[in-house]
Amino acid sequence: ASIFKDVTQGLPIEVFSVNKQYLDDPASTKVNLTIGAYRTNDGKPWVLPVVRKTEKSLAEDDTLNHEYLPVLGLEEFTSAATKMLLGGDSKPLLKGMTFGIQSLSGTGALRIGAAFLKTHLNRNVVYISNPSWENHQMLFRHTGFEKIESYRYWDEKNKSIDFEGLRSDLENAPENAVIVLHACAHNPTGCDPTQEQWIEISNIVKKKKLFPFFDCAYQGFASGNLGKDSWAVRYFANEGHELFCAQSFAKNFGLYNERVGNLTVVVNDKEKIKAVQSQFQLIVRGMYSNPPCHGARIVSAVLNNEGCFEEWQSAITEMSGRIIKMRKGLRERLEAKTKPGAWKHVTDQIGMFSYTGLNVEQIEILKKKYNIYMLSSGRINICGLNTNNLDYVANAIADVVG
Ligand code: PMP
Repeated sequence: ASIFKDVTQGLPIEVFSVNKQYLDDPASTKVNLTIGAYRTNDGKPWVLPVVRKTEKSLAEDDTLNHEYLPVLGLEEFTSAATKMLLGGDSKPLLKGMTFGIQSLSGTGALRIGAAFLKTHLNRNVVYISNPSWENHQMLFRHTGFEKIESYRYWDEKNKSIDFEGLRSDLENAPENAVIVLHACAHNPTGCDPTQEQWIEISNIVKKKKLFPFFDCAYQGFASGNLGKDSWAVRYFANEGHELFCAQSFAKNFGLYNERVGNLTVVVNDKEKIKAVQSQFQLIVRGMYSNPPCHGARIVSAVLNNEGCFEEWQSAITEMSGRIIKMRKGLRERLEAKTKPGAWKHVTDQIGMFSYTGLNVEQIEILKKKYNIYMLSSGRINICGLNTNNLDYVANAIADVVG
């Protein structure tokens, strides 16, 4: 008998299992709208030219070695990442009230931030949008949060934000609750609050003494403009909120498997920063000791060099531009084939994902009859669309909504 005899089979992770079904499907017409990764118009992964160039120059640099990084990571990376998020003119940044911690991509930043909130600030309640990136819940649960609550976000009928619901749920949240906010390009809905709505959220968070934990996985991917995409975080920081923000460089640098992330921390008392850093150091030490270097070196080299930074900007413009074009193309085709006006949400939504509003039966037919794969929530990755499959996908969707 095995000591593992009572271990039961865990539930599959939907996004990876549907992706696998796609990979195993021999059909030549198959389309993958599942996993959140950028694809070129040829349906291929894209190593950004500036990333490739930087990797080559790092490989040639004989002064670099593979010694351990400090526990909190590569300083030139974390400071550049924090500045990219908050902007060079950020009030707390200029006052020295911010710092960054290199993390295992966005997920790792959320995880160490959650651990700090639980262990050192005694937070036990977290509010997550409904719906949200499905990993948020598990992550806070594994950290030991006692109550994982949700706040309303998606208005099914209007296919937009349910702001009334959101407002009322945050207003009724207990003091000290942690509120997870998507900085931009909300996953999975693609719907972000307007600036006026963010101001209202900021007021509620302040009044109710909630803790804002931003998740910024798509900076540059929503509008193509870094400042616009982190407007909410910048606003909150300038308004005097103490906050955490998890940053991922998976999408905007195409560095998915290198696990490059940063946790930006804003602390209103400069004198406390050293203590906060020391506790983060112990959290990281006990979890994975210190972070990997390769990806952080790449991002740091690009963010800290004007020429490379510009090349990166043009890659971001290209990626976000292609997404916007595909949204437009899909909407036009669907409206021509189904009901005019019924697909406005496809272009209103921003970022990588669109919450289509397709139901489980329709999604099943798309898979069985057309070999088109998406999540059961109706979320599609717009990057899976290209000029070769757009007509095919639009025709198929038009058929199932009939
Ligand atoms: N938050 C959200 C909302 C995401 O969509 C993702 C990526 N799927 C992440 C965080 C973290 O991704 P990673 O750990 O790969 O940076």
